[in-house]
Amino acid sequence: MSAPSGCGKSTIIRSIMDRGNVDMKFSVSATNRSPRPGEVNGKNYHFITTEEFRNAIDNDEFVEFEEVYPGRFYGTLKREIIDRCENGEIVVLDIDVKGGVRVKEMFGDDALSIYIMPPSVEELRRRLEGRGTETPEAIDERVNKAEFELSFAPKYDMRVVNDDLDKAVTETEKAILDFIGK
Ligand code: 5GP
Repeated sequence: MSAPSGCGKSTIIRSIMDRGNVDMKFSVSATNRSPRPGEVNGKNYHFITTEEFRNAIDNDEFVEFEEVYPGRFYGTLKREIIDRCENGEIVVLDIDVKGGVRVKEMFGDDALSIYIMPPSVEELRRRLEGRGTETPEAIDERVNKAEFELSFAPKYDMRVVNDDLDKAVTETEKAILDFIGK
């Protein structure tokens, strides 16, 4: 699943897991960014240093990785998904647009790519400001990036507009259930 920052993607993933109709596990990515208040190492991300991230690249530990923001790296770890997929488990990736398109190309029909859309870019800014976890500069950076990220939406298997959270959760959950054939 991909979306511009602040579109509610993480909330949608968590809500689907909480509803309990889809037995899916979150792939915990590695990143060299600092934890935000409330984020837990090993749960939200594996928070590692830039040097550890470089070592993981050298040791071929990633399915994919991206420099999503200048100097800030995020990567999907092989150990988070390969074994689980081989055991028939469902793994959900919260991933940027380039990584999402790459993973879809790699996994083909074994993957469902979903793009969560904001109702508008103005609404996206309001949500990011409301979240209160970013500096004004970081919000500007993310809003500017959103327009670029939205250009990737047509490359995804499906798009869900998050106007009403409950509706977006239901629509996304249904798509996943249809995909896995339940
Ligand atoms: P945040 O810093 O807000 O948690 O995440 C920033 C961006 O990085 C989001 O678009 C998120 O989906 C993306 N991201 C998180 N994990 C990964 C990953 O493993 N690979 C890639 N390519 N992007 C990721």
